[in-house]
Amino acid sequence: MELTNIGVIRDLFERHGFSFTKSLGQNFLINPAICPKIAELGGCGEGICALEIGTGVGVLTTELARRCDKVVAVEIDTSLKPILEETLAEFDNVEVVFADVMETDLAKLIAEKFGDREVVVCANLPYYITSPVIMRVLESRLPVKAMTVMVQKEAADRLCAAPGTRECGAITYAVNYYSKPKLLFRVNRGSFMPSPNVDSAVIRLDIDSTKKLPEAEEQMLFKIIRAGFSQRRKQLVNPLSAELGRSKAELAETLSSLGIKPTARPEELSLDDYVKLAECVK
Ligand code: SAM
Repeated sequence: MELTNIGVIRDLFERHGFSFTKSLGQNFLINPAICPKIAELGGCGEGICALEIGTGVGVLTTELARRCDKVVAVEIDTSLKPILEETLAEFDNVEVVFADVMETDLAKLIAEKFGDREVVVCANLPYYITSPVIMRVLESRLPVKAMTVMVQKEAADRLCAAPGTRECGAITYAVNYYSKPKLLFRVNRGSFMPSPNVDSAVIRLDIDSTKKLPEAEEQMLFKIIRAGFSQRRKQLVNPLSAELGRSKAELAETLSSLGIKPTARPEELSLDDYVKLAECVK
């Protein structure tokens, strides 16, 4: 079944009485070149299991199922169930779990469904939970090799910006702490039905499972980064002083002792600078 063919999709919708729910970020892919590329660049293949978030009509799910040993997809919208029963009928290696991904214990799901086999995450993420989903996968240190996701172009630029540049935000540092991000390719808004107001991009995060800092230092690292970027136009010492209850003079001295300009703004620090700072103030 051609799941990128508008006629086929409309027919499925009509027969199963489906209509889009905008608030669920339902922009379905209709460009036939995109899903095979996500599956290929996402590391799908023999011996690999894939976790998908948000099936839509199953356009990416089928590409994952063609290449991987097993696919488990989490989809919130139960009105897609009869459609998926039809579109995924030919695959015996796919399971759709109808649940909210933000309420799902993904570590448990992976352990139950995939055991200790190699897992990749591939998804065209609903735009309203892009960052929370990415952070959940990274922070909970899921046993996942890589995460290849379609996100809005602006989010892709921020996620893949180099730390220490103007484009970066708090999430840039978090993503770089847990993984190696790479912008794979851009996707124009016409590739979706309905067409969103912005273009998108596919990024891949190659996950680094080594634990770089003890728990307490790690918590301090993200506390400092979050505090800094809550007031990104100010010098870092200002929000840090409020967050840590220490004087600006003391913090300026700490920054200097670590070779960081005491007047630096949050985005001027490298990830290593933040790591050193977290270890020091902890
Ligand atoms: N993979 C399909 C495609 O590329 O055409 C659909 C992508 S669409 C951008 C996002 C999908 O995520 C929709 O099917 C939507 O119902 C689902 N979704 C939205 N919020 C979700 C949530 N909290 N948990 C699980 N799925 C969700």
